Amino acid sequence: MAAVGDDCLFCRIVSGEIPADVAAETEDAVAFRDLNPQAPLHVLVVPRLHAADAAELADAAPETVAALVRLGRQVVADAGHDSYRLVFNTGADAGQTVLHAHLHVLAGRSMSWPPG
Ligand code: AMP
Ligand code: ZN
Repeated sequence: MAAVGDDCLFCRIVSGEIPADVAAETEDAVAFRDLNPQAPLHVLVVPRLHAADAAELADAAPETVAALVRLGRQVVADAGHDSYRLVFNTGADAGQTVLHAHLHVLAGRSMSWPPG
């Protein structure tokens, strides 16, 4: 049986098998630029540990959820922004297309509420 990482796009990016535009990384997570950016800064902060979504990550490794938030804050600060939006799309109706937990970090423009 294939391991999760063989089939999972973000596992393959985290391992370096598929290239990405990496903005920052730690022992827990990799932050890379979204291919289809929705803001001047749009980074995905992805845990090295595979979990299908943020809540599964929270069950498996709660401290890693905090690590994603902290790395997102660092990327925003390094880019010179102070306001930002953090999003975990979870489930198809919420727009989740990649089933490996990832934190969207968006900054650099005004944003409306509620989101679409
Ligand atoms: P979601 O729809 O919340 O699951 O987010 C998945 C995100 O991954 C989307 O915003 C895509 O634009 C982005 N994406 C898909 N493939 C890649 C890739 N190879 N490198 C960077 N971002 C990607
Ligand atoms: Zn994965």
